[in-house]
Amino acid sequence: MLFEESDRLKSIPPYLFAEIDTTIRKKKEEGFDIISLGIGDPDINTPDAIVKELCKEAWNKENHRYPSSYGHKVLKSAAAQFYKKRFGIDIDPENEVLPLWGSKEGIANIAYVYINPGDLVLVPDPSYPVYKIGTMFAGGSTYTMPLTEENNFLIDFSKIDGDAARKAKLMHVNYPGNPTSASCDIDFFDKLVDFASEYEILVCHDNAYGDIYAEEKYKPVSFLNAKNSKDIGIEFYSLSKSFNMTGWRISFAVGNSAVLNSLGKYKSNVDSGVFNAVQYAAAAALNDYEEFINSNNKIYNRRRQKVWELLDKLGLKYYKSFNTIYIWTKVPEGYNSASFAKLLLDKTNVVVTPGSAYGKYGEGYFRISLTIDDSRLEEALDRMKNVF
Ligand SMILES: *Cc1c(COP(=O)(O)O)cnc(C)c1O
Repeated sequence: MLFEESDRLKSIPPYLFAEIDTTIRKKKEEGFDIISLGIGDPDINTPDAIVKELCKEAWNKENHRYPSSYGHKVLKSAAAQFYKKRFGIDIDPENEVLPLWGSKEGIANIAYVYINPGDLVLVPDPSYPVYKIGTMFAGGSTYTMPLTEENNFLIDFSKIDGDAARKAKLMHVNYPGNPTSASCDIDFFDKLVDFASEYEILVCHDNAYGDIYAEEKYKPVSFLNAKNSKDIGIEFYSLSKSFNMTGWRISFAVGNSAVLNSLGKYKSNVDSGVFNAVQYAAAAALNDYEEFINSNNKIYNRRRQKVWELLDKLGLKYYKSFNTIYIWTKVPEGYNSASFAKLLLDKTNVVVTPGSAYGKYGEGYFRISLTIDDSRLEEALDRMKNVF
């Protein structure tokens, strides 16, 4: 019996890079040593202290029961204290924090909370694919906000069509951003609040990379640092990248209490909350965040520097950002994103992500990820140096 997929599932755009994937698989089978700079998933272990906390709490029988869909107070308090210490923001731990099974879950589910069929959502391009796909699943449509290098990959509010702004119910924003690595300052977030307030649009800011920065002066601000931001939006803070916890599925949303309450209500009907032991471990991570973040950032700084040096040598242009785990690089003249990624793979067995995977405005770029150990990264860079 072949069951027909729902229209919703069938509406996912066809995967653009099937050809590259086939080549990777074939090369692997033939025994080629493939190095992937394509994956945004930290290679560094989750810190021991966090794992230990999980083990300890896994033995606690109280944690073996259903957790609350609205989160455990240990993580809610730790998140509030973390936002105070890290960003200087007051958060009510009871009503203004909602633990999630990762930000991806929250971003996908927020669409079901607010979007009716036909509703409009403003989405940056290039961007994390879940903003668009989550909207589509809920029956909404998206309006593209192009991110261009001329504007430092910031959203240009003056270019958003007035009718679209009036119609839009929700808007996704992500700084420091994937895939562009661009960051923004508090002025940008203030403008965002003004724009969203004028048009009554719910802002969902994705703060997945807020603690990956090269030095103090590049330390990102939070969307909630903007005045009146809590009236108009929420922020997703993920532990995945900053604490090397992608596999744990843990993040939280902070901000507008009514929005978080509605998201919690939705979640209570489709899931039953995050394993409490994982919430204890996440609380341990947040309580000692400085130690963990500093150690990661040293590693990424070293790798970022190595990649920059090579790209400079090869004469490849890139966006010089001191944030995130990515380097957003321009493909050389005569290629597009896909053809250059294919060339790299053919000639060097190195995988990068074509920029067009993140939207039309990602065309002409490719993304290098720093989540690979130093020796493999050096090997990849050597291969590129020898070929180009
Ligand atoms: C990696 C990533 C996430 C993933 O968050 P999880 O908490 O692991 O679900 C969210 N947003 C962006 C932009 C990312 O790159």
